[in-house]
Amino acid sequence: MCSGRVDLEFILRAFSNGMDGVFIGGCRLNECNYITHGNYDALNMVLLCRKIMAHIGLNPERLSIEFMSSGEGILFTEVVDDFCKKVKELGPLGTSAEIDEDELKSKLEEVRKLVPYIKIVKREKLESRLDNEEEYDGYFTSDEIDKLFSEVVSYHIDPDKCRACMICLRRCPVEAIAGGKNRIHVIDQDKCIKCGTCFEVCPPRFGAVDQISGEPVPPPIPEEERTIVRKSKKK
Ligand code: SF4
Ligand code: SF4
Repeated sequence: MCSGRVDLEFILRAFSNGMDGVFIGGCRLNECNYITHGNYDALNMVLLCRKIMAHIGLNPERLSIEFMSSGEGILFTEVVDDFCKKVKELGPLGTSAEIDEDELKSKLEEVRKLVPYIKIVKREKLESRLDNEEEYDGYFTSDEIDKLFSEVVSYHIDPDKCRACMICLRRCPVEAIAGGKNRIHVIDQDKCIKCGTCFEVCPPRFGAVDQISGEPVPPPIPEEERTIVRKSKKK
């Protein structure tokens, strides 16, 4: 219904599934029927995605967004024809100057796992409204995207500090935290989408959740060492 609904994940999934190009058609900017103006969101997302594509060695020309009204059938056929010609010239995904198909696939998978994190980190820019077409090119820079990936944050629960209050476990949106009553909590790094909620909600008096960047996450504490033995209250 709205180009604003096209998620970064949809595009990356299309390329992961072997599509040679992705075209998004949106309503004309400033002509949205609703107050949402989702086509601006789509534009920002495409500008970001193009930079990500370049970062992983994929030609950004394989992704296109165009804005037009539903009455502009001729324009639609023209831009789609032009895009198809361009993609044909580029050749199948993973050929020509681009990286090997398997390597590309694994890079796309890595980025797809980080989509929720990327959307959180870049939220402010993704929600802005770019009125001037001249701003498009430099809106997201290559340096910014390199930094985004080199400074990816992970979260880890310090077993010496966790008091098993279970707040993080209840608040994690993807059930990535294992724990329970009197059990030291542990984050499943494969499930974690790096939203940072556990870091924010862990009570300051415990401060058990660490934010880690640029170094490996410590391995999880073994199951048999997770029980917290509490001192019984004196009568
Ligand atoms: S960062 Fe978010 S997804 Fe990951 S464990 Fe914490 S709450 Fe769950
Ligand atoms: S919120 Fe903090 S103290 Fe409570 S279970 Fe999670 S990591 Fe442990």
